[in-house]
Formats: sequence, C-alpha cells, structure tokens
Amino acid sequence: MRIYEEGSREKLSAVICNQCGKKMKVENGILMEGCCHVETPFSYFSQKDGHRYLFDLCEECYDRIIAEFSVPAEIREETELL
Ligand SMILES: [Zn+2]
Repeated sequence: MRIYEEGSREKLSAVICNQCGKKMKVENGILMEGCCHVETPFSYFSQKDGHRYLFDLCEECYDRIIAEFSVPAEIREETELL
C-alpha cells in the first residue's frame, strides 16, 4: 500500500507491505528498500473485469510467496540500472 504526500501523486510518504504490515523505509519521498509493487488491471474475460488491484510486498514476504510457486519466477538481468 502506497501513501503519497498530500497533493502529490509521486512523492511517497509511506509504503506498507500488504502481507505483513511492515512499514518500509521511505526517505524524502523515495523508497529505500526492496519492494514488489503490483498493479494489475483484470481483463474482460476475468471475474474482476473493471477492477485494478494494487498492492506492495516487502522483500521478505515476496521471497516467501515466490518460494511456494510450482513454477519458479523467471529472473532476468537488468541491463539498465538506475
Ligand atoms: Zn511483508
């Protein structure tokens, strides 16, 4: 869950893991730790058509959840690091 500073749609004031409730480290509007941000609109063919789901997972919860995948997540090297 992302909370933005009042009047801003970009400057973060807090990021909270939706799984465990951990408040992640944010400094000067920038998230300072690993986070899995998910924002997915569901299509016409789903039961959730017209709804967009947004959530954030801390790195620990992300690791725990993907460890339970039947098929491992694909990992690609980032070619452009910021
Ligand atoms: Zn978590």
